[in-house]
Amino acid sequence: MATPVDILGLTSEQFAQAAALAVGQGSGVAGRLYREAHREGRFEPERSAPASAPRWRAAFTLGHLRVVKVVEEDGPLGLTAKAVLATHDGYEIECVRIPMRLVPTDGEGEPVQEHTLCLSSQVGCRMACAFCETGKMGLIRHLTAGEIVAQVATVRAALGWEPKNLVFMGMGEALDNTAALIPALHALTDKRGMMFSHERITVCTSGHAEGIAALKALGWKRLNLSISLNGARDELRSRLMPVNKATPLAELQRILCDFPQRRNFSLGVNWCLMPGFNDTRQDATEIAAFVRPMQRALLNLIPYNPGSYPLTRAPTEDEIDRFIGWLRDEGLAVRRRITKGRSIMAACGQLGNLELRAKRLPGGRPGRQVDMADG
Ligand code: SF4
Repeated sequence: MATPVDILGLTSEQFAQAAALAVGQGSGVAGRLYREAHREGRFEPERSAPASAPRWRAAFTLGHLRVVKVVEEDGPLGLTAKAVLATHDGYEIECVRIPMRLVPTDGEGEPVQEHTLCLSSQVGCRMACAFCETGKMGLIRHLTAGEIVAQVATVRAALGWEPKNLVFMGMGEALDNTAALIPALHALTDKRGMMFSHERITVCTSGHAEGIAALKALGWKRLNLSISLNGARDELRSRLMPVNKATPLAELQRILCDFPQRRNFSLGVNWCLMPGFNDTRQDATEIAAFVRPMQRALLNLIPYNPGSYPLTRAPTEDEIDRFIGWLRDEGLAVRRRITKGRSIMAACGQLGNLELRAKRLPGGRPGRQVDMADG
């Protein structure tokens, strides 16, 4: 007997077609079951179609993740929360709810806080960025489309989180897993399901050339892309981010200049400021030279968060302000990312836990620290 298919990895149309074949049921019931699965995180054919429920159950399943724990940290914008979620085969992935701006309500009500949910795309990651906790795990496995979508369904149903925006910046390089990412994007934006609009979704990449091409081929003009740059000369970037050896900066720059599909597209450029590595005046000049040919770019400055095996220390406030000043002198639009979640290891580059890394390695040894010289 075939394994039941995870509803969360399908679009409503795919689900209706599969249901017609497997259950022989009209699209009305399929539409209702799809809506309930994607919006409410439940699959209860016994209520909607009691007579055919065993056939629905034989053909489909709802691939929920199990909430292992939630850790929270208060900050100037509100609570940052990291949810550790277990997959069916016992791996743990992490997604993080990040507080964003307060949105005024009509009338006299309190302003409403919006949240972004940072999603994982893989268990571990093979890109081996030197500053990243997840990168030290290596790639354990790709997530399925259903598991990517299930992160949203699970935190909504189990924790009551209602993310406004989604960003693929959790565990894994999303564009290294386009086979699951792209079906997941279709499911997340399905009008009969979760209905995220394209502009509410950002895919962040280390510079995966084939993945960027696959994303561009979608033709979604309002989808956001951001790049983790972190080094704007090849020697430095290759040490920090080995992907740079496959796609050096000149090639990456060409690909990114070619990406925009709408007039007001603004590329997100993430720069994790690491004292002693990429925090000089020269770095600021090189960043400006890299982004200059692009139509518009917004530089997100992320202060380095020391993890379990710190590459360096966190930058001081003075160092951050000085670097931002240099970037502005270069004429760049800069936004400082407020460090959220550092104490709960939920900040950028900190996802990926030690237990999981130990699981990955024969004999349960903890993962080694990636040495800069390895780069
Ligand atoms: S920064 Fe992103 S791409 Fe690099 S190792 Fe970490 S998860 Fe992978």
